[in-house]
Order: sequence, then structure tokens, then C-alpha cells
Amino acid sequence: LASEESRASATPMMEQYIEIKANNPGSLLFYRMGDFYELFFEDAIDASRALGITLTKRGQHMGQDIPMCGVPVHAADDYLQKLIALGFRVAVCEQVEDPAEAKKRGGKSVVRRDVVRLVTPGTITEEKLLSPSESNYLMALTRIRGGAEPQLALAWIDISTGVFRLAETEASRLLADILRIDPRELILPDTMFHDPELKPVFDILGRTAVPQPAVLFDSASAEGRITRYFGVSTLDGFGTFSRAELAAAAAAIAYVEKTQLAERPPLGLPERESGASTLFIDPATRANLELVRTLSGDRNGSLLKAIDRTVTGGGARLLAERLMSPLTDPQRINERLHSIGFLADEPSLSSDLRAALKHVPDMPRALSRLALDRGGPRDLWAIRQGLAAATDVARMLGAALLPEELKAALAGLSALPADLEAVLAATLADELPLLKRDGGFLREGANTELDEVRALRDQSRRVIAGLQLQYAEETGIKSLKIKHNNVLGYFIEVTAGNAGPMTDTSEAKARFIHRQTMANAMRFTTTELADLESRIANAADKALAIELEAFDRMVAAVVAAAEAIKAGARALSVIDVAAGLALLAEEQAYCRPVVDGSRMFAIEGGRHPVVEQALRRQAGGPFVANNCDLSPKSDGKDGAIWLLTGPNMGGKSTFLRQNALIAILAQMGSFVPAASAHIGIVDRLFSRVGASDDLARGRSTFMVEMVETAAILNQATERSLVILDEIGRGTATFDGLSIAWAAVEHLHEANRCRGLFATHFHELTVLSEKLGRLSNATMRVKEWDGDVIFLHEVGPGAADRSYGIQVARLAGLPASVVARARDVLTRLEDADRKNPASQLIDDLPLFQVAVRREEAVGRREPSKVEERLKTLDLDDLTPRAALDVLYELKKTL
Ligand code: ADP
Repeated sequence: LASEESRASATPMMEQYIEIKANNPGSLLFYRMGDFYELFFEDAIDASRALGITLTKRGQHMGQDIPMCGVPVHAADDYLQKLIALGFRVAVCEQVEDPAEAKKRGGKSVVRRDVVRLVTPGTITEEKLLSPSESNYLMALTRIRGGAEPQLALAWIDISTGVFRLAETEASRLLADILRIDPRELILPDTMFHDPELKPVFDILGRTAVPQPAVLFDSASAEGRITRYFGVSTLDGFGTFSRAELAAAAAAIAYVEKTQLAERPPLGLPERESGASTLFIDPATRANLELVRTLSGDRNGSLLKAIDRTVTGGGARLLAERLMSPLTDPQRINERLHSIGFLADEPSLSSDLRAALKHVPDMPRALSRLALDRGGPRDLWAIRQGLAAATDVARMLGAALLPEELKAALAGLSALPADLEAVLAATLADELPLLKRDGGFLREGANTELDEVRALRDQSRRVIAGLQLQYAEETGIKSLKIKHNNVLGYFIEVTAGNAGPMTDTSEAKARFIHRQTMANAMRFTTTELADLESRIANAADKALAIELEAFDRMVAAVVAAAEAIKAGARALSVIDVAAGLALLAEEQAYCRPVVDGSRMFAIEGGRHPVVEQALRRQAGGPFVANNCDLSPKSDGKDGAIWLLTGPNMGGKSTFLRQNALIAILAQMGSFVPAASAHIGIVDRLFSRVGASDDLARGRSTFMVEMVETAAILNQATERSLVILDEIGRGTATFDGLSIAWAAVEHLHEANRCRGLFATHFHELTVLSEKLGRLSNATMRVKEWDGDVIFLHEVGPGAADRSYGIQVARLAGLPASVVARARDVLTRLEDADRKNPASQLIDDLPLFQVAVRREEAVGRREPSKVEERLKTLDLDDLTPRAALDVLYELKKTL
């Protein structure tokens, strides 16, 4: 489109369009023409399809019709919302001069136009476009080459709340980190976007990943851009950041500047988030455990939904953030647990707090809109309301002896500007218009001049009512009315048949000036009326000007207190989360977990937080609580592994998942669904559960399973928790059994992590004889009259049978098939008894694993050479003696 030839053949307007379009690649261009935003060419085709609006055409370009569609300016927000939700980005292009100016230039001059804003998923602030309970992050990714390893860094900003964070990352955990933060939009240098090594990551992110010109990510100018944005001369006071982090932060800022153009959203100073302080959850695990969304993308049915009892948008966002990034520092976790414990012990305080918090509107987002000059009177009200609620909350907390986290929150509340609330309350009216230009938002008594002007206006209205009476008497027309519309302003209206007294005499004609004749009415004005009219219009203009000035003053006062307001809002969110989790604990009978630096994992009476609530809602049977103990055996420090067998439908997956979820809940600082829980910090959580098919990307279920299993065996450390469900199911029995066998050995010998391994290969249970920290556990069932009854109870030991045939019968397989299957099974079992797999345990030594363990963990016995070297005192060694030692060492090889 932007070719020379194309430009040459375009009309002047099209030429302008093409140029602007070329400067904004990757966005739909909303091109302002009168009361519409018009879209042309491909944009028109995409938008008409996405929005379901008619595609028309306008003129021709290079011999072809130009496709066009348009949306009315007044309804643009709704269309934007749809397009953004669909993942589009929109460049809004306005006329930036009066059309008269263009005419003056004469000839073929077109009205000058410019893009005034880029609307992208990561940079929106409109209430309509945002979800109250979700953060809306824009993220920038950078890579700095130089040292041995390229440095990767992420920076993420929520311009609707001002949050600004940074972190370093690595190629191996890049996707996990991105998904943990869950940005709406990820920008990265176009060179990196096409890097084959990282390509799979961006493929998974789809439309979220947006390549940008590499200059945006230039690390040399990074510091300058950041200091300019924050109006400081140096970054020294912010902490120390790596070059990659600075480049990421600067790129995020550059993108905000690029999309917001003239406006500067009030961002907090960048805060570093260290990856080491959060529990690493790999992408597959995150998806499979359905933390904030189910596998099908629903929020209902997720863990977040099950535990969310917050009452504010900020609280909901903070809870989600904590759930996405559980901690690994026992002290910080325990601070959070203290708050919940404290509030759980003070139920009446807790419920008072929640009642007060219910009145807290979304202060950070209102603040952002105000600072970006997109705010309205209701945003000011939100700030006022939030400040008032904060005062209430602070008063309630003030009397109590608080745990650390809440004490800090209270300090945040106390720093809020107390007088601002009073000023806003005294100035804002009770009922507020959406837009400031509608006026009427200043309270009576707030501004004397305004009150006078309003009185004048109201008085004039009374005078008009008086005039109507007077004219009716004068002309004898009882039905005479004074009306108002936007075209004529005030006018006198009589029916056509009654108009005589106003048109018959020249005297009357001079007094009642004719304005308009309608089908059955005539309209007139008088000099008195015109005079009043302009007085009223002036008064209205004046009133609005006074109001707008007062509005700007209030906004300035609010923006001046932005830092304190944000800190206060954050404090309210912290309190909301604590009170919500306390309520949850109380309502669902959760217990406070012991979280420390040990390697314990001892859960008594654990339950699945989501399944338990679902069963209760559906009035199903009670959820059966189960213990799980993966703590180190008394002798060693390495964690234990449970090998779990039992029939399908017995509750294996539920048990596996519940223990992973309990670990996550504990480390995010929540009480947990159990009678008691002692959890030594988990550094990484891995799970391979359920058959999450990835057929869309051309991988078989088995391949996906193996890729995920490989990731686990390669990355799990002694501090990790690993949950594996049915490894090896997707292939031939012996293949599958062998892989499962080897995986268990590796976990036990090399990774030495805590783990749960569910399997349908009963043959594996013999491994517990050889592997000291491996125990067998099974889901109990009762057999009754040829049927199975699932008890959902986990007990020690191994299942002796898989009950597959009974389950198949329950599912309604024809009786003849069931009977035949029984026959086949009996024969197979007979044949197997002659060649039992249990023999393997004697025939197959474990040394292979020992080798792998050296590779994987780098922990092994020192060699003879090393031992000998250690004993040498080099300072005491003559060259001759050194040579002797070398000969000696060489001989041992
Ligand atoms: P498996 O993985 O062994 O096939 P699932 O974990 O999928 O079994 O559980 C099968 C069914 O049993 C699920 O519908 C679940 O709701 C129910 N269930 C599982 N565990 C329990 C439990 N502890 N108490 C009550 N019902 C349970």
C-alpha cells in the first residue's frame, strides 16, 4: 500500500491516509471523517467482520474499489471494546486543525490529521474495557548479549493502576515467568521475535506477543528515558538494576509514551521482583492445576474463584497476583498467615472491615484516568469515597494490636491526605454526571460565583414562565406556550389556527417576530425573549466554565497526592485479601499451615478446595479427607515419594492435585483445606496430570506427556514437589511400564524430591522394596456383589487389582462384552504369573540411575584423584615432588 506507485495514484486524502497507515503498522486505523471513524482497505475488511458492520466502498485506488466501513464517533468506545477483546490494536486518528484552515491553504489541501492515541490491550484505562478483578499488564522483554549467557529481562506495567515491576529471567523459564504474570500484551524487539530458539514461546502466546522496532529496546538510552519519565536526575535511589532490566523498563516506558502520546500516566517507581523469591510453577503445571482459569478458559471452576472472598477490585487483583506467584520465603509467608490468623480470631472486626471495604471503589484506576485527563466527576467521587472508607478502616484497626503486615497497611492508610476527602465531599454534588462537560457536578454552596450564576439562570427560567402567562393574556391565546429546542433556543409556539392575533396587525408583527411555520404550528420570538435567551445561555456557559475550573483544581489536588493514594489503595487491598482469606478459612474450615525451611510435607485430613465446594453445592456426598506424608524419613533429609495405585475413578487425580494446591495455598500465605499441614518450603512445583492434548500443534498426547516429564526430571531439585499422574499411559504396555519405572527411579535417586506418583502399572509397587524412601499407597475400594464402591480413601499398600472391568460395567458396557473381558483377563493373568515383573527388581540393578544422578545434580562421591589433591599442601611442594605426584595420579587412572 505504501509503495511509490500506490502513493502517486492516490487522491490527496488517500495519500494522507496511506502515510498515516504506514506509520502505524499492526494497528487498525480509525480515520476521523466528520462524525465517523472510517476504516479502509484490509482494515475495513477485518473490522467489518469482527464487528459485524456493513462493508461498503469509497472511490478507487490503483483501479480497484477501496473497501470501507465506519463507526460513529459517539459509539466508538463500544466498538473499541470489542476490537480490543478480540486482540486487535487501534490507532485513533483525529482531525487536528479546523477544516477552514485547510480551505485557506486552497488547492487540494486536506485537513491535517494525526494519530492521537494507540489503543492496545496492554495500555487501556477505560472502565468499560477493563475487568475489575484482573490486572492489565503491558510487558516488555529484552535480551542483552555480551557476557557468556545472554541476559533476559522483563518489565511490566499496569497503567490503569501504576504498578511497575522488573525481573530477570532465563530462556528456560521465560514462558513460565510470562504466564505467571499473565500480561495482556508483550512487546519485544522484532529481531528476537524471529529467533528460532524462542519462537515456540511466542507461538504459545499468540497475539499477545507483539514485535516492535528494535530501537525501542536500545539499552544505551534506557537510563535517560527512565530518568526523564520520572523527572529525576539519576536512578541511584531506585536500587540497582541490570542492563537488561533497565532496557526492559525503558522499552515499557517508551511504549507507554508511544501509545499515550501526550499523556503521562502516573507510574510507581520500578520495583525489582526476584524470581528466586517466588515458587516456580512451570506452564503446564499452571494450566493443569487450573489456578486462575480452567483448562477450557473459564474463571468458574478455578482455584481463584473458589477462594476469592474479597470485596474490592484491588483486593481481587492482589489475591490473583499472590496466587500466581506464591513465595518461597517462610518469613514473608508467615507474615501473611499472621494477618489471617489475627482476623480469623477477631470475626466481628473482620466483618466490620469487610463492610467498610465494600464501599471502596477502584481508586487506582480512577486516579489513572484523572491523571491521563480521561477522568470524569465520578472518578473524583471514587477517590472521595475511597478516602472516606480508608478513614473508617483505619479507625477500626487503630484500636487493635496488629500483626506486622496489617500494621504496615495501617501506616499506609494513615498517610492519606485527610483534608482532600473533606474538600471533595464539600465540592462534589450528590448525583454526578458521567462527563465533566455535562456540568452540574458542583454542590450548591461550594462556589459563590457559581451559585449566583445558577440563581440568575433559575430566575430567568421563572421570568420565562411569567412571560408565557403575559403573552397568553396579551394575545388571548390560552394554548400559547414557550418552548425550547437546540436549533431555535426559546420560542413561542401557537397552533396555526390560533396565530391570528400575532400576525394580523403590523404592530403585532413587529412585536412577535416570525421564526418558523410548521404543519400545524407557528413559532415566534420577541426581543425580550431573545434577550433572556442569551442571558440564560451566557449563564450556562459561565456556570460550566466555573465548574470545569473547579474540576481541574480538584484533579490537580488528587494527582498531587497520587503516591499517597496509591499506597493507601494498596493497603486497603492487603486488608481486603487478609479479611477475605480469614472469612474463607472460617467458612470452609481451613487450618493454618506450618511453613518453614524444613523438607517436611505432612498433611492431615487434606481436601481438594475446588472439588470440596463443588460437592457441597451439588449436595453430593461429603468430600473424604486424606493424609499425605512426604516428609524425610527419620534418617535422611531427602523427601519421600508415594506411589499411588488404585482403580480409575478411585480419586487418584483429585488426591494428587489437592496436595499441589495445598502447597500453593500455603506458600501464597493462605490457610489450607486440611486438619493440619506442615510444609517445608517448596522451590519448584511440577505436575504432569491429566491428558492435556496438544493436538493442535501436531504433537500426540504421548509426545506432550514425554516432553513434560522430561522437563520435570531435568529440573526438579531436592526442594521441589513433583506430582506425576499416569506416566507412560499413552504407549504400549511394556514401553509405558519401562518409562514409568525409570522415571520413578530417577525421581528417587537423582532428583531426590518430594513426590506423588500415580500409576496403573501395579508392577511398579515392587520398587518400594529397593527404593528406601518410596512408599506404596492406594485408593481404597469395597467390592460388593461383583461391583466396586469407591471409598476415596488413601491407605498404605498397593491395589491388588485395577477393577477396570467393574468400572467398565458401571459405565454401561454390554454385559456380553464385560463377561468376555473377564475371560480374557483371567488368561492374561495366568500367563503373567509365570513371568512376573517382580522378578525385575532382583535382576535389574540401580546403578544406571546413580550415573544419571551425578549428571543431573552434580552430587557424587569424590574420586581418588580429588581425594589425593585435597591432601596436598601446594606451598610446601617442590617442583620435583609435584612431578612425582603427577606420575602417581596418572597411574591411578
Ligand atoms: P481417578 O484419577 O482415580 O480416576 P478422580 O480423582 O478423577 O479419579 O476422581 C473420580 C471422582 O471421584 C471425581 O468425580 C471426584 O469428584 C470423586 N472424588 C475423588 N476424590 C474424592 C474424595 N476424596 N471425596 C469425595 N469424592 C471424591
